[in-house]
Amino acid sequence: MKVPLENDFANLELSSGLLENLKTLGYEQMTPIQAQSLPVVLRGQDIRAQAKTGSGKTAAFGLGLLAKLNPDHRRVQALVLCPTRELADQVSKEIRRLAQGIPNVKLVSLCGGKPFGPQKGSLQHGAHIAVGTPGRVLDHLSKNTLRLDNLLTLVLDEADRMLDMGFADDMQQIIQRAPTARQTLLFSATYPASIQTLSRRIQKDPATVVVESQHKPGTIEQLFYEVKKHERNNTLLALFEHYQPESTIVFCHTKIQCAEVAQLLTQNKISALAIHGDLEQRERDRVLIQFANGSCPVLVGTDVAARGLDIKSLTAVINYELPHDPEVYVHRIGRTGRAGATGLALSIATPGDMVRVKAIEEFTNEPAVCDVYESLNRQDSFKIYGHMTTLEINAGRKSKIRPGDVLGSLTGDAGLPGSVVGKIDIFEQASFVAIENSAAAQALEYLDHGRLKGRTVRARRLSD
Ligand code: ADP
Ligand code: MG
Repeated sequence: MKVPLENDFANLELSSGLLENLKTLGYEQMTPIQAQSLPVVLRGQDIRAQAKTGSGKTAAFGLGLLAKLNPDHRRVQALVLCPTRELADQVSKEIRRLAQGIPNVKLVSLCGGKPFGPQKGSLQHGAHIAVGTPGRVLDHLSKNTLRLDNLLTLVLDEADRMLDMGFADDMQQIIQRAPTARQTLLFSATYPASIQTLSRRIQKDPATVVVESQHKPGTIEQLFYEVKKHERNNTLLALFEHYQPESTIVFCHTKIQCAEVAQLLTQNKISALAIHGDLEQRERDRVLIQFANGSCPVLVGTDVAARGLDIKSLTAVINYELPHDPEVYVHRIGRTGRAGATGLALSIATPGDMVRVKAIEEFTNEPAVCDVYESLNRQDSFKIYGHMTTLEINAGRKSKIRPGDVLGSLTGDAGLPGSVVGKIDIFEQASFVAIENSAAAQALEYLDHGRLKGRTVRARRLSD
């Protein structure tokens, strides 16, 4: 007799049809995320699972929802929400492959940018599984072409990306229409605080499954550069040229210093925006949008202004001026090196600042590693720009614009691939969408001349 291996699919409570089909597909062993989540999913518990792209998350929820499905009951029993049409298409394809083990399972794709009628037709014919983007799924629910009364499993795939794209409201409205006695599976590549909040709101007693990436736990490399006061600006530029960080916060002491440093960087082809306590809310929003969505790689701020920023992956924190309080220093540098990546904390210290460095050494109980300006490689014709461009559209929540409308018009009518569309932020009077630089002109051309939700809108580049 063959002894089943620990990660063998045969250890799971799956029908022989599903198991046979997995063999046909060449799935011999469960991937780590499947091995950890499938037993939980199959016993009916809610789950929040985090694993990087390509780890096999689709089968982890796909097999779960298929195991519960009653093919004789032609009602939507499982709903999978995905952030974009491309991702929804990939998930549909994978679930269809997995479903070959069960006869007559019908799956319908409900994505924006595709005609509504055929989707409605498929739903009327009776589909067991719906996979779609939040905007279009909500449209079907509003028009009663989709009902969730018989829903057993709700899946949020790439939940972090859906929140990034501004789908929180849509998701909430969809979930309100699902029965409370359901299983909710939440999958995500990262695990920001906003995902915890979402999970708390919509899940019951969820099991948490995390499959670590190969990175070692977050570490921060700290370096101090002792230079004369008049050499600070030159040193700051040299730090950017040498380390070429992808995203950085530069900490300053005063708002005047913030403005001066941001100007210095911009004049030297390092795209930067200043944020300080005196900015009006409207300005502050625009700065943060551009930093968070990858349009602006450098933020120059004071401690007060940077408080409460929910920013994911900072490559570097640079102290243009060290704080008096060592605790503030630790707090500042804690913003880099998150999520398993190695962070970089670079500090400029004048001879007069060396007492602050001493205080930091004592507080952190680590010797400060000092480096010299001469070790930094200067570059000719150097620049750092964001890889995204922010477009501002002059219509927002007040005009009932939803993220799906923006995404749908760009990937549908304007013909852009979903992969070039980044974060979408909807405000009361305006909306902001980040587009890969290479596609920004095309997106702007369309948005500024096309229509959004049946009305003409104007759009402009937020930066420059
Ligand atoms: P994720 O959603 O985590 O990014 P996917 O679910 O898209 O990953 O899976 C990535 C690839 O791995 C797909 O091509 C899928 O068919 C394949 N795959 C998933 N599970 C297995 C398995 N157990 N054995 C072999 N291939 C698998
Ligand atoms: Mg996936």
